[in-house]
Amino acid sequence: MALTGMQIYKNLPKTNCKDCGLPTCMAFAMQVAAKQRALTDCPHISEEGQAALSEASAPPMRLVKIGANEREFQIGQETVMFRHEEKFHRPTGIAIRIPASVSDEEAGKMAAEISSRSYVRVGTTLQVRFCAVEVDGADDPAARAKTVHEKGCLATILIGEKPDKMKAAVEALKAEKPLIYAANASNVEDFASLAADAKVPLAVSGTDLEELADLTQKAKAKGTEDLVLAFQGKEIGETVRTMTIARRAALKKQFRALGYPAMVEVVAETPEEETTFASIYAAKYGGVVLINGYEPWELLPIMTTVQDIYTDPQVPNTVDAKLYEIGSPNESSPVLFTTNFSLTYYSVEGEVERSKIPAYISVVDTEGLGVLNAYAGDKISAEKVVKTLQEQKVSEKVKHHKLIIPGLLPIFRAEIEDTSEWTEVIIGPERAKEIPAFLAGAWK
Ligand code: SF4
Repeated sequence: MALTGMQIYKNLPKTNCKDCGLPTCMAFAMQVAAKQRALTDCPHISEEGQAALSEASAPPMRLVKIGANEREFQIGQETVMFRHEEKFHRPTGIAIRIPASVSDEEAGKMAAEISSRSYVRVGTTLQVRFCAVEVDGADDPAARAKTVHEKGCLATILIGEKPDKMKAAVEALKAEKPLIYAANASNVEDFASLAADAKVPLAVSGTDLEELADLTQKAKAKGTEDLVLAFQGKEIGETVRTMTIARRAALKKQFRALGYPAMVEVVAETPEEETTFASIYAAKYGGVVLINGYEPWELLPIMTTVQDIYTDPQVPNTVDAKLYEIGSPNESSPVLFTTNFSLTYYSVEGEVERSKIPAYISVVDTEGLGVLNAYAGDKISAEKVVKTLQEQKVSEKVKHHKLIIPGLLPIFRAEIEDTSEWTEVIIGPERAKEIPAFLAGAWK
């Protein structure tokens, strides 16, 4: 039976220390009761308190940690079916398969290359999270696992079905908490014991949800708690449907046997299809997507999807409204302004950087709206731009009076020139990608 906030509160330290990120123990208790936080998020709860509450207050989906220290990646403990209900909490991790058919040296090279796949988008670094090493076909699974771990800088997934090969690989890497992928009906006893002894997470793979639920219970009986539901993405519609049913059973029905994060091995005929399917699985509801390709063009659409899906829909994506210096601008450098919607700002910033012309960008607070939306919603005006420039003391940074304004707001030109020291307003391009050519021509 679900616990009330008051029952939980009675077992908390009641110090209101805020270490859980909430202002009071009562607020924390209410969130645990609503299944939005786990008891373990309070670092000060006593063992007795935890024991009294843990089973009944456990979140409907378990939090699973794969990898150790700075390579650790967390999946699970999601709370909603749809992003707009609250938000999705833990972004999908991309895993790249390293096949057993390559040599140890090639596997090491692949691991280093995969680890270097990292990109900055909208101010956030997007990267691959796992090297997924096939161990069944490797002559020396321990050496293979170690090589990949040492050459790369990502968490490891060990792929295999043979208990002896998997045991060798897990023993070599157990301090690094690799994910074992995957136990099935024929090896679950061995794999679950191995995972329990080594204290590493285990993925279980069944032909249907009934078998998956059976496997999680068998693994749990062997002492393995950190489980992942593994799905084979052979037929996309059917796989998404099955994953949705599993998630609904866990979150809505509190069905503990399926209360674990999901992982999908993407099966596709072409790299394009693999990228498309992986993006869909990331949106619905893969905590990990396992793929083969790792060319930038293959990864970026998946990473972009994950980033978009896992932003908080109730919080505007903003940057601080202040004056930004791009490169090392001086008193002759151009001055531009834009809005504090992060996608807008980072687009402008990226293109100014690309122009190689150091510049100042004054960011106006538009409550997280882009240029046209801000104008339509009355969140930006010529008067507000002038006031922002004054507050940011931009005129003290340069000796000229030229201001470049977004091409979407030419209507601001006359008013800014008439009411401020910015007496030469230049209408910039409408699209950020045109900024480099514009600056090269307009700023001599
Ligand atoms: Fe209370 Fe624990 Fe949160 Fe501190 S960390 S405020 S003791 S619930």
